Amino acid sequence: MKKIVIVGGGAGGLELATKLGNKLGKRGLAHVELVDANTTHLWKPLLHEVATGSLDSGIDELSYRAQAYNHHFTFHLGRMAGLDRERKELILAPISDEEKAEVLPERRLSYDLLVMAVGSMTNDFGTPGAQDYCSFLDSRLQADKFHQRLLNTYLKANNTASKKGNFKLNIGIVGAGATGVELAAELHNTASELAAYGLDQLKKDQLNVTIIEAGDRILSALPPRISSAAFHELSKLGVDVKTNTFIAEVTEQGFVTKEGGLIEAELMVWAAGVKAPNWMKELDGLETNRVNQLTVQSSLQTTHDESIFAIGDCSFMLQKDGTPVPPRAQAAHQQATCVYNNILNFLADKPLKPYVYKDQGSLVSLSRYSTVGSLMGNLTSGSMMVEGRIARLVYVSLYRMHQIALHGYFKTGLMTLSGRINKIIRPRLKLH
Ligand SMILES: Cc1cc2nc3c(=O)[nH]c(=O)nc-3n(C[C@H](O)[C@H](O)[C@H](O)COP(=O)(O)OP(=O)(O)OC[C@H]3O[C@@H](n4cnc5c(N)ncnc54)[C@H](O)[C@@H]3O)c2cc1C
Repeated sequence: MKKIVIVGGGAGGLELATKLGNKLGKRGLAHVELVDANTTHLWKPLLHEVATGSLDSGIDELSYRAQAYNHHFTFHLGRMAGLDRERKELILAPISDEEKAEVLPERRLSYDLLVMAVGSMTNDFGTPGAQDYCSFLDSRLQADKFHQRLLNTYLKANNTASKKGNFKLNIGIVGAGATGVELAAELHNTASELAAYGLDQLKKDQLNVTIIEAGDRILSALPPRISSAAFHELSKLGVDVKTNTFIAEVTEQGFVTKEGGLIEAELMVWAAGVKAPNWMKELDGLETNRVNQLTVQSSLQTTHDESIFAIGDCSFMLQKDGTPVPPRAQAAHQQATCVYNNILNFLADKPLKPYVYKDQGSLVSLSRYSTVGSLMGNLTSGSMMVEGRIARLVYVSLYRMHQIALHGYFKTGLMTLSGRINKIIRPRLKLH
């Protein structure tokens, strides 16, 4: 029986493992196996909400073992560290516990077909001090850590503000892409919620959130009118947006610009740039680009090895217009469906179908204040700008689509209902 191994149970990989498990694993037509470095999955676009406490990751996360049991695939906990293409084996690093005692030694897993879906990480472009002083939002663990730092910083700032009236809490975010912009708005929401829950010495105008962007506008990947709408909303909240500002160094005091200026910040987040993990650069002769993504053909098979597919943020595919498929959840979702069909075709000796990215538009959630974005429609030529309630509805539906792919309509309906109930019975913010 053929063995299909998927590495990375994120927006793309977990949907693929679930579909293949339901189709092939259930009927004993193939072994479907999923490898992930963590025991649970949380949809990555929710991480800024976890970081600010708007979302309790403990409620929305999904256990890989439970998903594997329900959908007929095998789950392996482990971090992929290498590949042996000749023996068709991938190498998983040893696992240690918190006291550094070994739990599992290095392991090798064999495969007939391999799907790489390990996602991406923030690219700090080697900026000195970034790793030492900035928080990153690439994983649930990092988002949880940031949340704790935010609560502690707030506790301290609230105490200082009670003694010093002119005190300011400075939070700096590098990168005005969707993550940076959404995080800035969420931070303002957190501030007003914390004030409602008793940390009310720090007044609204004492919170100074700055977004720093090297380009000339925020949300540069989206149409200019969306940038303007988001900029307008951020200005209303009092977020300071510094465009055309290049950060050369990060120190304990804050961000140092190319010109030598200092943007002071107690809490710093790096949310600019995307790259695939460094260990993928030399992955047993597979072709990669300058940000370590695996180059794929239109069938999503890697260019140097047709038994290896790559999807989502860790893959690199040029479209007809010469631009790469963007690193977005919607691309990972579409590619999971394409690879699912192509694996069925591969096993049936049928020709594989090419992947074509369908841009459904992009939405940016500015917490409870607003949602702005563009939708690509068949009726309109090009994109249509949406704002407010409709935009919010479409934004939420992206996550619902992911949940439906993992759990089906009925369970997703129940989850939506329990989410509503939780909103009534739990605090509006994760306060611990
Ligand atoms: C804060 C934030 C907000 C975002 N908002 C949006 C949005 O609104 N809309 C949108 O379209 N996109 C958004 N994105 C981008 C989107 O999250 C990604 O494009 C999408 O998650 C990519 O899916 P993926 O399957 O490639 O990887 P991921 O979803 O990142 O999953 C990768 C998986 O691989 C696992 N993994 C990593 N390394 C290893 C290893 N060595 N061994 C084993 N497992 C490994 C990880 O644990 C993870 O489970 C956002 C991203 C962030 C950070």
